[in-house]
Amino acid sequence: MELANLTWPEAKEAISRARVALLPIGSTEQHGPHLPLGTDHLTAAWIAREAARQGGFLLLPTVPVGVSVHHRQFWGTLWVEPEVLRAYVEGIARALAYHGLKKFVLVNGHGGNTPALMDAARRLRDEGIFAFVYVWWRAVEEEIREVLEDGGGHAGELETSVVWHIAPELVRPDKFPEAAAQAAPAWGRKIQGVEVGYDTVDFAAAGCVGAPTKASPEKGRTILEAAVNKLLRFGKWLAEAPPEELASKPHKP
Ligand SMILES: [Zn+2]
Repeated sequence: MELANLTWPEAKEAISRARVALLPIGSTEQHGPHLPLGTDHLTAAWIAREAARQGGFLLLPTVPVGVSVHHRQFWGTLWVEPEVLRAYVEGIARALAYHGLKKFVLVNGHGGNTPALMDAARRLRDEGIFAFVYVWWRAVEEEIREVLEDGGGHAGELETSVVWHIAPELVRPDKFPEAAAQAAPAWGRKIQGVEVGYDTVDFAAAGCVGAPTKASPEKGRTILEAAVNKLLRFGKWLAEAPPEELASKPHKP
């Protein structure tokens, strides 16, 4: 059930039937010369939509802009401050809680969002609203290790593979060599163990970390299916979990 497609009388039904809501959250930020700016929100929305369809969860509209200031030197990147994202997500959760649904999975497609989302979830819990952050690539680390040669990065083998499966028309394979030639092998730039790379441009001239040339749509499909499965199983657990198990614990006597 996709909330935005329903009328309000239909929403009344759907909200009381669905025991869990999925909120996809991503970014609009540079993903090298070969992937679209929407990579993170397209991926989060795709995983959430599939899991909602298979599990009967309520799918909320996607939050398309997140915490991406570190990509600002690349054209088209949008960002909001972490506290804006946190407050916005809390607001959405409180609105649905007002209608009676208080269990959420925040389906996150962008690593920069994670601290703000964890903070939102922790604060909501004290109000009796139970939100959990599903960082899809963290949930399937084992599958990523099995399927990929190079691994994650940014706009590397992982993200290139998943977008290639979801939206092949948005991938530019002719730009892979350009992305790879200027790619950083790993995130960041350390001197004597100290991080000195605040912005992506400090270590990745074309905005790419990892090896997009190793990507394939088949690898993307395998990993996406695993991510949907994990989310589906987590959603089912959350649907069954009694609120007392999820609630903040009282002060020690
Ligand atoms: Zn990304």
